[in-house]
Amino acid sequence: MDYVVLVKSDLGPFVGFLRQHGKVVAPKKKGERHFAFEEVEDARDIALRYIPTILPPKKYFMPQYETLAEYNLREGQKLHPVVEVEHIVLFGVHTCDLAGIQCLDVVFSDRPKDLNYLVRKGYVTIIGLECNEYCDAYASCGLMGTFLPQGGYDLFFTDLGDYFLVHVGTQRGEDIAWGFGLFQKAEPKHLKDLEVLRARKAEIFRPEVPVDRFLLPRMFQEGFEAKVWEDIGSRCLSCANCTNVCPTCYCFDVKDVLNLDLTTGRRIRVWDSCQNEPFAKIASGESFRAERSDRKRHRFNRKFSYPVKRYNRFFCTGCGRCSRVCMAKIDLKETITQLAQETGYLGALRG
Ligand code: SF4
Ligand code: SF4
Repeated sequence: MDYVVLVKSDLGPFVGFLRQHGKVVAPKKKGERHFAFEEVEDARDIALRYIPTILPPKKYFMPQYETLAEYNLREGQKLHPVVEVEHIVLFGVHTCDLAGIQCLDVVFSDRPKDLNYLVRKGYVTIIGLECNEYCDAYASCGLMGTFLPQGGYDLFFTDLGDYFLVHVGTQRGEDIAWGFGLFQKAEPKHLKDLEVLRARKAEIFRPEVPVDRFLLPRMFQEGFEAKVWEDIGSRCLSCANCTNVCPTCYCFDVKDVLNLDLTTGRRIRVWDSCQNEPFAKIASGESFRAERSDRKRHRFNRKFSYPVKRYNRFFCTGCGRCSRVCMAKIDLKETITQLAQETGYLGALRG
């Protein structure tokens, strides 16, 4: 796979061309400081510089409401599986959100495989877009090392002034690039421009908390009884905003919705959250995580500790969404800093 070049003035025709491949969705400005992935018909509606969107692209892979099966009680217990799909071209996905999609891929490919997710994923074309600048004070992509592309896209765009340098990541990306016909082969001077940009980024995107990320799992394990969990638990409102906006949270509930005829119905799945008290409640009425402090500790461990053991990757992309939306101003970087202070890991390096 190779690099190609698209001059900026050809972005409009390119977006027009992409519409032959499905509904084109891209970041759009919503009010003063908010952005959202929405359908675009014109390249001029795309926000090429944006901070993380209100909801991450997971809404296209794992919709908030999704029908899994339909049934008719006259047929007894029979369920008719449903997979709702749509051809979508997701344009302008930043590297933190590409990492989030990769986390969902890993989870839903694990046994038992989630066919609804995996089939839908096959209908989505992903076009990434590099962050040239640091987005805002909530981000921790420097700490998590997610500010550079690490795959997970069909094409990846880097804005280099009057042109985009485009990395071709998959066969589908290559087909789109050649099908469009206006991409040019990248020359050494284009690759040099990319090198200069990446060197500048290495200066700007520094770890936001002086913690070695590879020590985080150990720090979370040793900090299980840390005071920080009580502190943030006493402030948390259990609104579940932090998990709704997180690109790597994937917990769901399954419900049966019976139609008014009381005979036919749908089995749906809806987003759920470990921050909701009933989430860990069992049939006898006990809850494994009745206290908010337990639920906060669980959420953080599900980002920095447990998935590292199971999947060998962090489930935090450093996007900063959870801190941006928290009404109680619970900040991920502050929480990590406090835990690092309590456990003695602040500034520690791998030995
Ligand atoms: S967004 Fe803030 S207040 Fe709401 S559940 Fe998450 S941590 Fe608690
Ligand atoms: S935990 Fe917060 S910063 Fe990390 S991926 Fe989720 S929303 Fe983004």
